[in-house]
Amino acid sequence: MQNTWPEHTLFSPLLTSLGWVEHAFYPAGHNPPAASAYAHQRHSPDIILDHEAIPPKQRDADGVIALSDRPVAIYTADCLPVLIADERQHHVAAVHAGLKGALAGVLLTAVSRLIEQGAIPNSLYIAIGPAIGPCCYELGSEVLGEIQRNPLLHHTPLWQRKQPVNPDAIRPQAQATRDSVWFDLPALAQQMLQQLGVPATQIDRVPVCTYCTAEANSSYRRNTHFSQGYRQRFSWIRRRD
Ligand SMILES: [Zn+2]
Repeated sequence: MQNTWPEHTLFSPLLTSLGWVEHAFYPAGHNPPAASAYAHQRHSPDIILDHEAIPPKQRDADGVIALSDRPVAIYTADCLPVLIADERQHHVAAVHAGLKGALAGVLLTAVSRLIEQGAIPNSLYIAIGPAIGPCCYELGSEVLGEIQRNPLLHHTPLWQRKQPVNPDAIRPQAQATRDSVWFDLPALAQQMLQQLGVPATQIDRVPVCTYCTAEANSSYRRNTHFSQGYRQRFSWIRRRD
């Protein structure tokens, strides 16, 4: 689709290795490809098809599946952008999964709908893009009980009392503000996807924290602490053939 990528664009080596997929985690503030289909996101479990997401933002949903070669996109700040490629049917999906959406089942809906279209869990290749990491995602202790009671989770979600140090941080990590824990949102998504039967070797994680590691103005939460502004990050995927 293009030869030059915006500075700070990130890729998943796993998705690139498939050969038939084009994808990118664009830097904050950069528009997606012109023909992209994307929805008006509401932290819901709802997923729609590409033709339903044209023109963009006309429909409420938190992910789009492409049955055609149209790029599908989602926009995020600290939430997880999840890009999925089905090796069997050559369908792709872009999913917006924050904590709320993940707990509401958006990943489950995305995988189920791809399976309705002919995928099997073993044919899915998934990249979890840049999001707020356990190094900076402070969660009030009271929220943990809610997470532990969630019927979609069979294992203990990952959190720590002691804030993990991120050796790759290029700016200060978030500072604790209350009685809290440090929560690993990308690990939660990975766990949910593996529960759905997707092999661990077919899930890739881009190890970039939007708060302390990504390019400037990537983090909604950092903006609530410092008011320096934030811009949405578009992540997109399309099939090439
Ligand atoms: Zn961080």
